[in-house]
Amino acid sequence: MVLDLSKRALFSIEVFPPKDSVGFDDVLGALGEFSKLCPDYISVTYGAGGSGSHYTLDVASAILSQYRITPIAHLTCAGSTKDSVKEVLDRLRSKNISHILALRGDLKEDRELSDFKYATDLIEFINAYGGFKVCAACYPEGHIESPNIKRDIEVMRRKADLGITHFISQLFFDNDDFYRMLDYCEVAGIAVPIEAGIMPITNAKQIVRIVGLCGAKLPPKLTRLIGRYQNNPVAMRQAGLNYAIEQISDLLTAGVKGVHLYSMNNPATAGHIYSNIASLIDEINAAN
Ligand code: FAD
Repeated sequence: MVLDLSKRALFSIEVFPPKDSVGFDDVLGALGEFSKLCPDYISVTYGAGGSGSHYTLDVASAILSQYRITPIAHLTCAGSTKDSVKEVLDRLRSKNISHILALRGDLKEDRELSDFKYATDLIEFINAYGGFKVCAACYPEGHIESPNIKRDIEVMRRKADLGITHFISQLFFDNDDFYRMLDYCEVAGIAVPIEAGIMPITNAKQIVRIVGLCGAKLPPKLTRLIGRYQNNPVAMRQAGLNYAIEQISDLLTAGVKGVHLYSMNNPATAGHIYSNIASLIDEINAAN
């Protein structure tokens, strides 16, 4: 499977692996549905500190062998040794998985950083190992530990200089934050494609958890929507999906390189969104 990053607008999906073998069939079932949307690739998250890596690899392997779609395996390095990362790279290679999203992972108070401090250390390590195409994360609102957006752009510059294929952004709800980041990147001469990470909000509880985890800012329009519909799950879901579709339409029209959908392993949500943006993506890519 060849990932064509020269396309004007990519459409990709993120899934998370099951916690144990019991959930594996459910994930396979979801992948079957996602594959009908013909995404350019499907990325698979990785448990911080290596937990769950087994299933990340199994899911990535199924994406490739059963659905003939390019998998991107996430790989975190915080708390890992060079030997343990090498072991994962060996396993990825043995399964013919050639794309990796290289991440630091979130720090836990009780965990030593061990052999890697930043994602860039991991990218260098993977590059030295050889044979993989590596992409990296970026943050339209700035990373939660960053003193300012300037630091984030410097980090993006370093990642780009290490030859990454593309960036996948953290989720965000205000497109202006993404456009601002693109402007800074242009000034910094960062020419690597940047995909916009979009998470459809389908229930009010989910938003509290997401905002708590990644610190994403809620624009007034989204806050109003949650306030208005939070006690009606059907209306809340509809309004949340509409918000995500509007966000994506605006991004695509503005010429962003693509959309990475945080699917929460929910094919119905991804399918609904895709059916509302497919003709836009087709139109943009037909102009290639
Ligand atoms: P880095 O790029 O290393 O940045 C971490 C912090 O250090 C930032 O504040 C940055 O500004 C700073 N920094 C980086 N380099 C330097 C330097 N040289 N000098 C000074 N400061 C520096 N987590 C998981 O556990 N599993 C996943 O599967 C997963 N998938 C993700 C997918 C995407 C698309 C995104 C956006 C995030 C994902 N995360 C995942 C979360 C991610 O691990 C966290 O956001 C983590 O805190 C940072 O990872 P990073 O790779 O961006 O780190």
